[in-house]
Amino acid sequence: MDSSLDNARTTGAGLVVAIDGTSGSGKSSTSRGVATRLGLRYLDTGAMFRAMTWWLLQAGVDVQDPAAVAARCHEPDLVSGTDPAAPSITVDGRDVGVEIRSAEVNAAVSPVSAVPEVRARLLAMQREAIAGATSGPAGAGIVVEGRDIGSVVAPDAQVKVYLTADPAARADRRAAEEGGPGTSEALEAVRSSLLARDAIDSTRATAPLTMAEGAVHVDTTSSTLEEVVDRIAALAGTP
Ligand code: C5P
Repeated sequence: MDSSLDNARTTGAGLVVAIDGTSGSGKSSTSRGVATRLGLRYLDTGAMFRAMTWWLLQAGVDVQDPAAVAARCHEPDLVSGTDPAAPSITVDGRDVGVEIRSAEVNAAVSPVSAVPEVRARLLAMQREAIAGATSGPAGAGIVVEGRDIGSVVAPDAQVKVYLTADPAARADRRAAEEGGPGTSEALEAVRSSLLARDAIDSTRATAPLTMAEGAVHVDTTSSTLEEVVDRIAALAGTP
């Protein structure tokens, strides 16, 4: 069968599936599901920006000051695990998987991610992870999720997807991930945090959130996770 996945396996150059989209559109669950289904590695680039942000906050850097962020962003040692069954992120050897989902990091991550020096450093790391997962006999490929994967990080990805969902559905899902909304005020806080991040992410000068050329738009508002994974697996040529 002539599919992206088969072609990737026979040529030795692994498959890259780029999944971009707004906050809370279902990128993480979808990306992990696709990676598991297709037997690929998984890279959560949002976790890298979050880990950088967490470290800057710990170090007492003013995250609203791009020059201060640029001056320190080469210091932390960030390592991303790429197993879709157990994604991990460490900073200077410490597992920060829980800490990077805090309200403080949510509020600071978009300004930090707009700093070109931060993006340049993480871009190099992201490309290295992609190269590692796509070369050699074991390099079946990788699913990479973020905001600029199809446009900047991996413009040659064989499969590009742009995920969106209604803001209400996104807030519900993100609140559920964070342990349930509790009150309608809490749900509204989640919704406005998502929209605030989208606004900064879409309007920044360097690598803004955008639908990449060649990307397929998938609206997940009224689809189940399995339906979305099926759709993307089909795009990769593997139903
Ligand atoms: O995907 P997640 O919501 O965890 O991403 C957190 C933040 O990291 C985004 O709001 C965005 O500011 C930044 N990000 C980015 N580029 C990426 C991935 C994430 O700027 N490729």
